[in-house]
Amino acid sequence: MTIGWCFDNTYSKLPDPFKEEIGPVPVKNPELVILNKNLSKELNLDFSNLDNKKISELFSGNSLPPGSNSIAQAYAGHQFGHFTMLGDGRAVLIGEHLSKKKDRYDIQFKGSGKTAFSRNGDGRAALGPMLREYIISEAMHNLNIPTTRSLAVVKTGEDVIRETSLQGAILTRVALSHIRVGTFQYIAARDKKDELEILLNYVIQRHYPNIQNSKNKALDLLKVVMEKQIDLVINWMRVGFIHGVMNTDNMSISGETIDYGPCAFMDIYDPKSVFSSIDQMGRYAYCNQPVITKWNLSRFAECLIPLIDKDQNKSIEMATEIINSFEKKYEEKWLNMMRDKLGLFGAEDKDKILILDLLTWMHKNKLDYTNTFCHLMNFEIEKNENFKDNDFQNWKKRWQERLKTNNNSPEKYIKLMKNVNPLIIPRNHKVEEVLNEANKSNIKPLIKLLEVLNNPYFEQKNIIDYQKPSSSKEKYQTFCGT
Ligand code: AMP
Ligand code: MG
Repeated sequence: MTIGWCFDNTYSKLPDPFKEEIGPVPVKNPELVILNKNLSKELNLDFSNLDNKKISELFSGNSLPPGSNSIAQAYAGHQFGHFTMLGDGRAVLIGEHLSKKKDRYDIQFKGSGKTAFSRNGDGRAALGPMLREYIISEAMHNLNIPTTRSLAVVKTGEDVIRETSLQGAILTRVALSHIRVGTFQYIAARDKKDELEILLNYVIQRHYPNIQNSKNKALDLLKVVMEKQIDLVINWMRVGFIHGVMNTDNMSISGETIDYGPCAFMDIYDPKSVFSSIDQMGRYAYCNQPVITKWNLSRFAECLIPLIDKDQNKSIEMATEIINSFEKKYEEKWLNMMRDKLGLFGAEDKDKILILDLLTWMHKNKLDYTNTFCHLMNFEIEKNENFKDNDFQNWKKRWQERLKTNNNSPEKYIKLMKNVNPLIIPRNHKVEEVLNEANKSNIKPLIKLLEVLNNPYFEQKNIIDYQKPSSSKEKYQTFCGT
């Protein structure tokens, strides 16, 4: 019985400046922590004939699968607004696997040791952050949000030194590709038009073949990536997800959520929510995510300027026109997303004010974002006297009036709402709780959490403990010490 690997590596065949040929650095004593069986199936991979030792050897990179070709990818990025040359400093892409349907997936080890791009880092990752990425990325997938996936986590049997000594681990990340806005920035900074053209054509062929024959490929790529990024950030806004480090190296060209560092889900609705300890200025706050998406897209557009038109001024003008259409596009899509959350069919001018009034009320009264929409769908997660408040009752009357238009019926609008309003999100305190246990080698609570996060849009029995926000008054903080 074979596992089913079907590697067809294309990125590693790109010219030298795009990557460094390097394998994972072997680890002392690999031990499997978790393997994603559902994802394995989707990838047409079967590990059931391997014992745990063999699986651990595989996902630690100690023994590479046949057909793999390990590289570290070069990229750059604006980190909190400052440009830096980066690259995979602690990850290697072992290859592109094709599923039976011929869908192509990058298979990457994160935490796999030093590369040419490690700068002062040790090339390693700790168990907590790798399991955290596993939980949140799988939760995002189940929330129907484009994201990289997590196939496995192994402990390395080695310690990594951060503020304290932590258990080392490697995450196997699966992505449509790991090409970022920062990949374009890296190549553009080298100032060689032929290399930029190679990257443009590669990306179009791999991700957007429908624009392959368009008259202006660079301009059309900017347009489609903008659509993808807008759709992505609207999904984040829908569920209250805060990415935390929207640097240009963490923005995928395929439109998937990538690089789960200090991300978190908002509980009490506050547009200024920030969880990351290093984001002192709130650059990546909840309400700033669309603003930053546009900023990042502007950096992407700058890379494409040499390819849009021979006349640089004309190029800039054309790219600017597209970037300037961001706000209108975003607002339209955001309004439609919020209409869905409220079960509204059709579009009326006064919808915007209805939506904003609810958000303002939630903010003022410190209501939980997820559970307020649950309340509107008649799922009472916890008793809250605030829902008796006059302002809310008046708002509800206006909402119910609006619901009556466009042939709406309770069956129809509840169905619409149930598709977009999760009954459960990865609550920060729950995530911390299961990670604490996993660090002590008790993986059971983590498995249980993953199980309830598997079906966020369906009613499940006895999960109230997972649905309630933390009762602690302390502000939740995430750290980049990954
Ligand atoms: P991130 O904050 O995870 O997006 O990483 C930003 C950059 O720092 C990327 O180029 C990473 O590869 C690199 N990096 C992060 N942690 C380490 C580490 N422990 N060792 C080497 N490079 C790292
Ligand atoms: Mg990154």
